[in-house]
Amino acid sequence: MLRRTLLAAAASDRLRRAVTTTPRTRAIVDRYVAGETTADAVRTARELRARGLLVTLDHLGEDTTDSGQAAAVADEYERLLGALSAAGLTAGGGCEVSVKATAVGLFLPENGEKTARENIARICRAARNAGTTVTLDAEEHTAVGPTLGIARELRAEFGDLGCVVQSRLRRSAGDCAELAQAGARVRLCKGAYDEPAGVGYARPSEVDRCYARCMRVLMAGRGYPMLATHDPRLIDIATALALLSGRPSSSFEYQMLYGIRPAEQLRLADTGAQVRVYVPYGGDWYGYLVRRLAERPGNLAFFLRSLLPQR
Ligand SMILES: Cc1cc2nc3c(=O)[nH]c(=O)nc-3n(C[C@H](O)[C@H](O)[C@H](O)COP(=O)(O)OP(=O)(O)OC[C@H]3O[C@@H](n4cnc5c(N)ncnc54)[C@H](O)[C@@H]3O)c2cc1C
Repeated sequence: MLRRTLLAAAASDRLRRAVTTTPRTRAIVDRYVAGETTADAVRTARELRARGLLVTLDHLGEDTTDSGQAAAVADEYERLLGALSAAGLTAGGGCEVSVKATAVGLFLPENGEKTARENIARICRAARNAGTTVTLDAEEHTAVGPTLGIARELRAEFGDLGCVVQSRLRRSAGDCAELAQAGARVRLCKGAYDEPAGVGYARPSEVDRCYARCMRVLMAGRGYPMLATHDPRLIDIATALALLSGRPSSSFEYQMLYGIRPAEQLRLADTGAQVRVYVPYGGDWYGYLVRRLAERPGNLAFFLRSLLPQR
């Protein structure tokens, strides 16, 4: 119930204005978001790489409403990839980028899919020039089919283009089977969006069971699994599956979000595993932050207190 209310808050313009204009929310924003500029993103990536962690950078932004805005998002990714490459951070995929299809035009009323596909291809070219890769984030269920379709098409030219499967969605076991067979790079996460009953699983236990099923398929397949979760039980299952299937640590990776379980990120990396941190940056952090709070309501009291007038 609380999760549902918080996810509705992510869409509220009034609340967005209240939160984003309150300076005291800064501390909690800084914990989860690397900063607002390209330079902030590069600095954070450098710090994480120095600690032996891999990085994927996400330029925050949702609700792209015209093709100019979509092109500007692709421009920012080109700038970012150029800056990461100049800083020597992209070699061997050490720092890659995560892109939302809706941010580069997917939901535009005219030629949305075409616009998104062209912008994503442009970002893939910039990533290839920088020696690294792109992963397409998963969004609400209406975006999932078209995003996976774009990834399927573009993998013909950019074989290392990654995509994301959410275990909250009932379709996901089938998607995993297809992607494992295709040898794709696949990030598996639980899914951050509230989905209708016919489309998604309602109970956390069902989402977790689906995660374990999908993980088995991906780890047994020909592709490169990217296991994105902070859940200690699922991380243990992943480690056991890697041992059982004889998968070397270079053939898959764990992924976690910036600011969440940082000690566990380092512990896993110390065991010789590859660990990638998903680092969001940019001015449009509100929707991202609310989704993180919905997952950890314990942080909510701290956040709400920061909105109250100080005595
Ligand atoms: C790298 C990465 C990329 C992602 N990309 C996408 C995407 O493209 N699309 C999408 O919809 N979602 C994405 N997500 C978000 C994801 O779908 C989940 O919403 C989010 O990861 C929370 O799920 P969880 O697996 O951590 O499990 P949860 O069910 O939230 O938590 C399970 C357990 O993990 C531990 N835990 C969780 N959070 C914390 C914390 N803050 N501190 C300490 N312990 C904690 C606790 O033990 C908890 O019981 C991504 C997540 C990651 C890590």
